[in-house]
Amino acid sequence: MIKLFGGEVILKKRILITPKSYYQIKDEMLGLMEGYQVLFNDTGRTFSEDQMIDLAEDVDGIIIGVDPITKKVINNAKNLKAISKYGVGMDNIDLETAEEKGILLSNTPDTNNTSVAELAIGLMFDIARNISASAWKVKNYKWERIKGVELTDKNLGLIGCGKIGKEVAHRAYGLGMKIKVYDPYFNDLDFAKSLNIERVDLDTLLSISDFISLHLPLNKDTRNFIAKEELKKMKKDAFLINTARGGLISEGDLLWALEEGEIAGAACDVFSAEPPEEHPLLSKDNFILTPHMGANTKEAVKRMATAATKNLLNMLNG
Ligand code: NAD
Repeated sequence: MIKLFGGEVILKKRILITPKSYYQIKDEMLGLMEGYQVLFNDTGRTFSEDQMIDLAEDVDGIIIGVDPITKKVINNAKNLKAISKYGVGMDNIDLETAEEKGILLSNTPDTNNTSVAELAIGLMFDIARNISASAWKVKNYKWERIKGVELTDKNLGLIGCGKIGKEVAHRAYGLGMKIKVYDPYFNDLDFAKSLNIERVDLDTLLSISDFISLHLPLNKDTRNFIAKEELKKMKKDAFLINTARGGLISEGDLLWALEEGEIAGAACDVFSAEPPEEHPLLSKDNFILTPHMGANTKEAVKRMATAATKNLLNMLNG
């Protein structure tokens, strides 16, 4: 309860905003939220479930990043009316419980496609040419060259070809890659024709691709989508790229595949537990992990923050 003016006591609606990158541009966004009490995340870290239980207890609305909104969080949040996802993937939210409680939900499609697609292409170059590994060696005074491979003329297999997959396809086509798609729901034939995209079944995609890039959502059907069986079907000199979600790849099986030489390397922006605790994958030269930064560009952050804020206010006032 906040005392506002003339002694009048007004109940202000409370908003919790968890994304770390939102905090960097909060001053630009505050104008949109006049009349609300806003709690920001200035810790630079993703909140745990226990922290979310405490923080969400009295709020009316949440702008959520990748922090967990579990059943416990929702059940303890007695005033919660709306959850606005800052980004696309809703896999950190217990959607069933939220819907049961009548909590409104929204996300911000079309705000970060370009940024994530550019990172996916960047990771392909990095793992193919050992860019970050080589630069790291030079910083440690080791002037060593590691032979790489070109992207041009290679088969790029996209698993999932929605908004981000399409942006990757555009860029890869420009690089002279041959694009194969496995996506049971993809039916944009004009788009496929414009980039010479071949739609294939999963086994074909796994066996012919030189690079495989994941752009599908994480849900109960897609968890561990890439495990030992799929890794065994890949070419031994193929690279796996994951800018979608950590749980899509069985990390234990990926470690096995890299150690056994079943695939040449993997570059990911996401991990099943973020940040990862000590994990043997992190010590592998042919494994790259970036800190879930696909959407962390100046442009995407502004688009996501604006859209997520407007979505939340519309839901709270609608
Ligand atoms: P989207 O919904 O536009 O596209 C997803 C595509 O996956 C759809 O075309 C759908 O048909 C397809 N798909 C669904 N199930 C599939 C299956 N079993 N096999 C193959 N394809 C399947 O989503 P998007 O905006 O393109 O996002 C793609 C992924 O990127 C999501 O996992 C999202 O969480 C992730 N993402 C990551 C970052 C990051 O910072 N790294 C940022 C934004 C989004």
